[in-house]
Amino acid sequence: MNIITRLILIGAFLFSPLAIAQFETSWDNSRGITQISPHVFRWGAGGSINGLFIPTSDGIILIDGPALPCEPGAGQWLKDELALRYDVPVRYVVLSHDHQSHICGTAVFADTAVAIGHKKIRPHLIREGRIAALPTITFEDSMDIDLGGVKVVLSYFGPTHSDNLIATHIPQDGVLFVPDLGRPEGQLPNPDLRDMYVDSTIEVLGILARMDDVDIVVPGHGSPVSTQAYFQRYREYLTALRERVLSHMVEERSLYEILELVSMDDFSDYTNLEKNLEPNIITMYDYLYRYREPNFPSGLPIRVPQ
Ligand SMILES: [Zn+2]
Repeated sequence: MNIITRLILIGAFLFSPLAIAQFETSWDNSRGITQISPHVFRWGAGGSINGLFIPTSDGIILIDGPALPCEPGAGQWLKDELALRYDVPVRYVVLSHDHQSHICGTAVFADTAVAIGHKKIRPHLIREGRIAALPTITFEDSMDIDLGGVKVVLSYFGPTHSDNLIATHIPQDGVLFVPDLGRPEGQLPNPDLRDMYVDSTIEVLGILARMDDVDIVVPGHGSPVSTQAYFQRYREYLTALRERVLSHMVEERSLYEILELVSMDDFSDYTNLEKNLEPNIITMYDYLYRYREPNFPSGLPIRVPQ
């Protein structure tokens, strides 16, 4: 696998009409570059995170960074690799969302590139002191990048995993990248529901599942790539979890009781279900606590036990 994932397909393949099936789409997270479609390359530099880049005749479009935890030198490693392979610079750095693990090291491209992100991303980057490029170009709903004959469509469908996660779509290659909402089949995407807007996420997962011109869904974590069926399945999981936890809350059961009562056995196709279920229930409870007003007789605010 290592040999395969270190395979680097360069220049001559960039504009050839090769079928997607001819490209290697699995990934072992080692430092490396893999071409996954006629125009799109996947890259990573350690850990479980990876991003994309798209080389064109007029420059390179980079989407996200490489490592978890933020690996020193990873951005420079990619910059050196790109300089060896192409005689054009990185022109755009797209940040999928503000989470450090996905954008680490992107500032190293600031000498030639402008950074792009959703309009809500900047306060998070500044507040958290992210080690990343700071976007000077932001957008509200959608934005197209047209460079060297490649069109990249950036879309914001609403708050989901963070209030600034965007979808990066390359329609001519059928590639869609929505890290942390897309994972390899059979893996729940997040250890818990932190920084998640659950109701809006359920809606957006439906939009992602129905988008046209999508053959490959690239995870931001792990291997291999998946399909839009992933979004539909996670939508079903999240909807079921929400309804099951909520029904017990309406019956005035405590979080401790709910942890005992909620079963998600009908989603046993998720290989990490057992590990993730408890934190998923706890953080769903937390979300729903702030979503509703119960008929408590006392009306007292929540208190820390003495
Ligand atoms: Zn994230």
